[in-house]
Amino acid sequence: MPELPEVETSRRGIKPHIINKKVKNVIIRHKSLRWPIPTTMKKQLVGQVIQEVKRRGKYILLYTSAGTVILHLGMSGSLRILKKSVTPEKHDHFDIVFSNNKVLRLRDPRRFGAVLWSKTDPLLHKLLINLGPEPLSDAFSAEYLYKSSRTRKVAIKTYLMNSHVVVGVGNIYANESLFAAGINPKRTANKISLKSYQKLVPEIKSILKKSIEQGGTTLKDFINEDGKPGYFQQTLCVYGRTSEPCIKCGHSIKQITQAQRSTFYCTTCQK
Ligand SMILES: [Zn+2]
Repeated sequence: MPELPEVETSRRGIKPHIINKKVKNVIIRHKSLRWPIPTTMKKQLVGQVIQEVKRRGKYILLYTSAGTVILHLGMSGSLRILKKSVTPEKHDHFDIVFSNNKVLRLRDPRRFGAVLWSKTDPLLHKLLINLGPEPLSDAFSAEYLYKSSRTRKVAIKTYLMNSHVVVGVGNIYANESLFAAGINPKRTANKISLKSYQKLVPEIKSILKKSIEQGGTTLKDFINEDGKPGYFQQTLCVYGRTSEPCIKCGHSIKQITQAQRSTFYCTTCQK
C-alpha cells in the first residue's frame, strides 16, 4: 500500500511535468474506483492550467482555477508521466492529457484509489476535513499527542495509525518509530508519558523524512519517464524481521497482530 512517503515522492515526481501545463483531455476508461470518477469533471478540467500540486495526508491535490482534482492511490495505485503515444494497459483507468502531449496516468489494479473533483477548497472536502495534522508540521508535537491521547485506551501503535490523530503514519513507520523510541506497541496511548511522546514524535518525523528523501520504501508507486523505479529500500529495524535478532540487543523480534495489522517489536528494548 502506498504510504505517505511514497505519495509525497509521487507528488514530487509528477509536479515538474504538470505544473503550469494546460489540460487538453481527460480520459476515464474505468470510472468505478473506490468512488465513481465524476463524469462532469472532464468538462470542467479540460482547458484548465495546473496551478499547484500539493498533498494532504495521502491525497494528491491538483489545483486549477476551476477546481481541484483529488487523487488517492488506494491499495495499489500508481501515477506515471508518459508520452501520449504509450498504449494504456489493462489497469490504466484514468489519464489527464496535457497540451504538450504528456499524460498523467493512474494505474490501479485493485481499484481502491480515487479520482475526485472539488469546486471549492479541497481541504474542506468531506474526506479531508477531519484529517489529523501533517506529521512533519509543527502542529504534530509531543504535547499534541500527549493531550489528545489522555482518554484513549487504544494501543499506541493503533493510535498512531489513526488518520484522525495524525495522517500518514502507516504500519511500517509506526513499527519503526516505536522501536526507535523504545516504546512497547501494546501500551495504551493514555498511559504514555509526555517524556515518552517527546522521544517518539522526533523519531516519527525523522523516519518519515528519511523515507521521503530515499523515495519511499516500496517500489511501485511512481515510475520515472524512463521506466525506472524512483525508489530504493530503506533499512528497516523491526518491520518484517520476525525471529531475526534485534539490532540493539540481539533478542528475537516478535510478531503479533494489532487491529488486523502486523506488529514487530523487541520485548527487551521496547517497554
Ligand atoms: Zn532489542
